[in-house]
Amino acid sequence: MINSYKKYSRRKFTTTITSAGAAFFLYPLSSFAMNIEEDPRIAKIVSNSIGIDTHNHMDVPFLKEDFKNQKYDLKEELNKSGLSAICLTFCVDRPKLNNKGYAYERFIIILDELDELLKSNNINRALNFTDIKTAHKEKHPIVIQSVEGGHFIEDKIERLELAYNRGVRHLGLLHDNPSYTPLGDIYTDPPKYNGLTEMGINTIKECNRLGILVDLTHCSNKGINDAIKVSNKPIIISHTGLNTQLGNNEKMAKMMLPRLISKEQAKIVASAGGILGVWTHLSESPTEYAQNILAMVEVAGIDHVCIGTDTKIAPSSNDKFGGKTNQAWENTKQGFYYTLVKSLLDIGFKEDEIAKIGGGNYFRVFDIATKKS
Ligand SMILES: [Zn+2]
Repeated sequence: MINSYKKYSRRKFTTTITSAGAAFFLYPLSSFAMNIEEDPRIAKIVSNSIGIDTHNHMDVPFLKEDFKNQKYDLKEELNKSGLSAICLTFCVDRPKLNNKGYAYERFIIILDELDELLKSNNINRALNFTDIKTAHKEKHPIVIQSVEGGHFIEDKIERLELAYNRGVRHLGLLHDNPSYTPLGDIYTDPPKYNGLTEMGINTIKECNRLGILVDLTHCSNKGINDAIKVSNKPIIISHTGLNTQLGNNEKMAKMMLPRLISKEQAKIVASAGGILGVWTHLSESPTEYAQNILAMVEVAGIDHVCIGTDTKIAPSSNDKFGGKTNQAWENTKQGFYYTLVKSLLDIGFKEDEIAKIGGGNYFRVFDIATKKS
C-alpha cells in the first residue's frame, strides 16, 4: 500500500516535539533511561516484538593472528540492545581487492573466524524464520549471516551455494568497490553497465533458487529496477534514507546524498513488495531518527520500512571506525531497541506499527525469500 499513510499530520508531529522540549526544561537533569522506566509500554513492545537490525557490521580482521588477539562482546551487547536478532554483516572489499582469488580467500577466512566468534558467544545463525521465532521465545539472541557485496563469487556462481551451506541467508549484491566479475552499477560510481550485468542477474536468480534474501543497497536505481524485474522474491534495501531527510550537518549530507533514495524509487521498491531500512546516519538524536523513519513510512507505507543502522554491535577494542549500536547517540543509556521504541512512541506510532518497523516487515520478507522456490 503506497501513499495512504498520512495519519501523522505535520501539526500533531510539531506538538509532540514542543511538549518534549518543554519536558526537558522542566526536568533538565532527567535521563532518557528514567523516561523509559516511566513508560511500561516500552519494555512490553521490546519483549513482544522480534526486533532486528537488518544491517549491522561485524568486520573481523583478515589476519587470523589479529582476530585471535581481540575480544568481541557480541552476546553481552545483543542482550543489552533489546534486539532479538541482527543481520551480522561483513564485507571483503576493504582494503581494495587487487587480484583474482583474494575476495574468496577473505570470504572463507571471515566465515571461519565468525564460526569461532559465534561459538564462543554461544550464538547461532538463523537459517529460517522458525529459528528466529524459537530464539525469540527462548529470549536467546540470534544472528542472520549477511555479506555486503558479492565479490567472493568472482566468476563462479556455484560459490553462492557454498555461501548458503555456510549459513549465509542475506546477500548485499554490491558494496563500495567493484568485483572481479562486475555485478552491476554502484551508486557512488559513474554508471558503466546500464544497471545489472548478466552475472548480477544470474546472482539474483541463484539467490532466489537457494533461499537467500537479496539486498540492493549500493545499486544504482536502474540496477534496483533490473533486480526487481528478475527476482521472484521480494527484495530489501537495508540501509538508506530518503534524500529529503538531510539532517543538519551539511558536509555529511553532501557526502551521503548519492547513497540516499528518492521518494519515487522508494515507492517502486515498496510496490514490488520490498522493504527499506532506515539507517542512523544523518540523525543526531533518537527523535531525529524516528522522524526519518516516519518520513519513509509516509512514502513507502507502514508495511515496507525496517531498521538498518549500519553500525557495529560489538566492535573489537581496537576498532576505530564506525559507531557502536548501543551508543548510536550521545547520552542514551538504554540499549538501542529500547531507545528506538521510545522515540517511535513519542512521535505517535502505535505498538503494532512499531512491531512492524522493528522486525515484522523484515521477517515477512525473509521468510518468503528463504523458502526454496
Ligand atoms: Zn553499505
